[in-house]
Amino acid sequence: MISQPYALAGVMGWPVAHSRSPILHNYWIEKYGLLGAYVQLPVAPGKLEAAIAGLPALGFKGCNITIPYKVDAIQFMHEVDANVRRMGAMNTIVVQPDGSLKGFNNDGFGYIQSLLDAKPDWRADTGPVTVLGAGGAARAVVLSLADRGAKEIRLINRTFDKAQALATEFGGPVKALPWSERHAALADVALLVNTTSQGMHGNPPLELTLDALPKHALVSDVIYVPLETLLLSAARQRGNATVNGLGMLLNQARPAFHAWFGVLPDITPELRRAIEATL
Ligand code: NAP
Repeated sequence: MISQPYALAGVMGWPVAHSRSPILHNYWIEKYGLLGAYVQLPVAPGKLEAAIAGLPALGFKGCNITIPYKVDAIQFMHEVDANVRRMGAMNTIVVQPDGSLKGFNNDGFGYIQSLLDAKPDWRADTGPVTVLGAGGAARAVVLSLADRGAKEIRLINRTFDKAQALATEFGGPVKALPWSERHAALADVALLVNTTSQGMHGNPPLELTLDALPKHALVSDVIYVPLETLLLSAARQRGNATVNGLGMLLNQARPAFHAWFGVLPDITPELRRAIEATL
């Protein structure tokens, strides 16, 4: 009898206990009747290189990389995809058939899919976009919006120099504006995105006046704890369509699961409920 090989994957970070990825991937492993597991891989500072190097020997198909290693892990890859090179950060390792390690970044894919799931006819080129924040999440969001054809991206960050540096690096449609202009920069936008940590559980809400925002604009927040930030609830109450950050989390996981377990999994209402129950 030929037994099905046991496939292992996990999430590597420090700490990792907060990650919803084990619930997500183990749901899919069970749903598709696969033999395997997705485990927490807490890796203490200074141990990252050894932990990554051990993946093939331990029989791992790969792992996700989370805070604080999304940048540091790149140096330990044999190969990285174009998104990792352009974003300067990675979130997925896939162990190749020859045992070498390839790094991917699926956050931008996840973000765009979350908009399309909510609004299948959404397009990036229907009007200006305002993006608040210039950290890791912003890099994925801004690059993927530019790739989808956004013609004008107003990038606004509390620390202006970081927004300016990103605008210089990415070029094209990306223009940096000072934080003080964030309210006025909502005029005539088709999409507003919050990628700052403001509004996340434990942090103060984002300070933003929505008066200039057109009612037809889509408002998205990459935060998913809570599911509806004060920004999203204010936008919803004035009539704007909104998208929370859970779809980005769920969608970035799909290509990784496919690479590790050979099945491109679906995001079902049951899966959403299972994750939402933990938020
Ligand atoms: P990060 O790299 O640390 O960036 C944090 C951003 O928030 C920076 O732009 C920072 O501005 C801004 N910020 C922090 N405190 C602020 C304040 N008091 N006022 C205004 N802006 C402030 O973090 P990240 O990795 O990009 O994550 C940002 C958020 O995205 C987190 O809530 C994270 O959970 C979420 N996220 C969600 C997903 C998903 O799958 N849904 C994926 C990745 C991240 P400065 O540059 O001025 O410090």
